[in-house]
Amino acid sequence: MMNGKEYIDSLRDLDLEVYFLGQRIKSLVDEPMFQPHIHTAAMTYELAHDPEYQEIMTATSHLTGERINRFTHIHQGIDDLVKKVRMMRLLGQKTGTCFQRCVGLDGLNAVYVTTYDIDQKHGTNYHERFRNYLLEVQKNDWMPSGAMTDARGDRSLRPSKQQHPDTYVHIKERSEDGLIVSGMKAHITGAINSHEIITMPTRTMGEEDRDFALSFAIPADAKGVSYVFSRQTNDTRRLDGVLDSGNPKYGIVGGEAIIIFKDVFVPWERVFMAGEYEFTNELVETFAGYHRSNYGGCKVGLADVVIGGSNWIAEAHGIERASHIVDKLTEMIAMAETCWSCTLACSYEGYRTPSGAYHIHPLLANVTKLNITRMVYEWMRLAQDIAGGKIITLPSEKDLENPETMEILTECFAGKEGFPPRDIIKMLRLIENMSVGAGLPEAMHGAGSPAAQKIMIARRSGVDRKMELAKTVAGINQDTSFERIIGKDEKEHWDEVKKKIQEKSVQIC
Ligand SMILES: Cc1cc2nc3c(=O)[nH]c(=O)nc-3n(C[C@H](O)[C@H](O)[C@H](O)COP(=O)(O)OP(=O)(O)OC[C@H]3O[C@@H](n4cnc5c(N)ncnc54)[C@H](O)[C@@H]3O)c2cc1C
Repeated sequence: MMNGKEYIDSLRDLDLEVYFLGQRIKSLVDEPMFQPHIHTAAMTYELAHDPEYQEIMTATSHLTGERINRFTHIHQGIDDLVKKVRMMRLLGQKTGTCFQRCVGLDGLNAVYVTTYDIDQKHGTNYHERFRNYLLEVQKNDWMPSGAMTDARGDRSLRPSKQQHPDTYVHIKERSEDGLIVSGMKAHITGAINSHEIITMPTRTMGEEDRDFALSFAIPADAKGVSYVFSRQTNDTRRLDGVLDSGNPKYGIVGGEAIIIFKDVFVPWERVFMAGEYEFTNELVETFAGYHRSNYGGCKVGLADVVIGGSNWIAEAHGIERASHIVDKLTEMIAMAETCWSCTLACSYEGYRTPSGAYHIHPLLANVTKLNITRMVYEWMRLAQDIAGGKIITLPSEKDLENPETMEILTECFAGKEGFPPRDIIKMLRLIENMSVGAGLPEAMHGAGSPAAQKIMIARRSGVDRKMELAKTVAGINQDTSFERIIGKDEKEHWDEVKKKIQEKSVQIC
């Protein structure tokens, strides 16, 4: 297992083609705009070496029996699923932002589960290939990015009907050695500081979209791959001064990028789906289930930070005992713990898939994420309420340091005795960073927009059964037999009981 420094050093061995603000970036690791994202991902490596967190941050590989970073592990039981979300919350608490590595983890698990099922049906050997790839990931402690979302163009058209074929990643050529692929993946978290890319199809494909039913892994610096790094709210503030950026060490959101694949060669041993369109739905839903359950971990870790920050600011401003402040903080805690309960339930209600890997409860995972799309906005609204308008009107650090304005600004931001004005500004900037910035749309769209969760909830909620229950209770079922009401198994059980009682010549009512 690498530690944080070794991870950062390992990125120097890669030669990625990355564009940002109209320029090709030469050294990713030394680029100040990328450093917060790299530091955050490094935390996933560093904490694995901290004895206090080893139980949560590491696992035993089911392939080798070796101790590995949990971010490269295939969940072997309920305990693993629970530890995974504990790890998410912990990292949210330590960084106050997105630590990026969960997308690849979910990609590894989803591809593991699906390749097994494809092989069962088609007699292919995708699963064996994938296990070999996984061995490499675990041995090298790689961070793969999870690239599912295609650019998607006109959302009402299927991939094969798009005006530009490259809006979806697709197979251009097949040969004895492998595939040639082209296309684009958008919004990919941690892409520029990952060692590898794992791709997955973004939606359910039909037969006509066979060439888009595709999953593979390649090195992040494979020939033909390039990146355009995204802008974020107030991103260049990190160049202006430590105070102004709010979370100077770890930044804001995960550092997303568009990945462009231009005639990229993928050898067969790195191909995990190539045309099996009937399994695209399974892969998408399995990935989405894992990923949506994570949000009740990482975002609750962030909530812990923002609740703590809001409480601290309330104390600094002398309002901590006001009943409405206590009420708002309590409300924030209750919402955060509701999301946490949801994600724990996803794990505890998990199940074993035919591949042996454990999956979370899909209905509950979608409920978790849907709650996140609403509640993060709500608890951040309350954080803004408690912190005051200063979070968007604070002057810059440069004005605080300018002898002409320093004294007056120090007076202006003074709070209760014992709370230095500079610390008050730091905390207000952190709350600004977390509640005004890109973290909100991330909670909305990351792991899929709310409509995607609602579709899954509607599909999996078993409304037919609920109607049967209601009809039975209301006494409007046509068939009122005991068996229909209580179910076949239970009917057999009671028949057996009845028989035994009758054998003993006892009357039953
Ligand atoms: C911060 C961040 C990080 C992310 N990280 C990753 C990552 O690491 N890997 C990855 O693969 N993806 C990632 N994503 C992508 C994420 O999954 C998508 O943002 C999400 O699926 C929504 O897609 P979109 O942003 O293109 O929005 P759109 O698809 O344009 O959605 C906008 C609206 O259109 C609706 N809509 C879309 N399609 C249809 C349709 N066919 N019919 C009806 N309504 C429709 C949506 O419900 C929504 O209301 C990330 C996103 C964000 C914001």
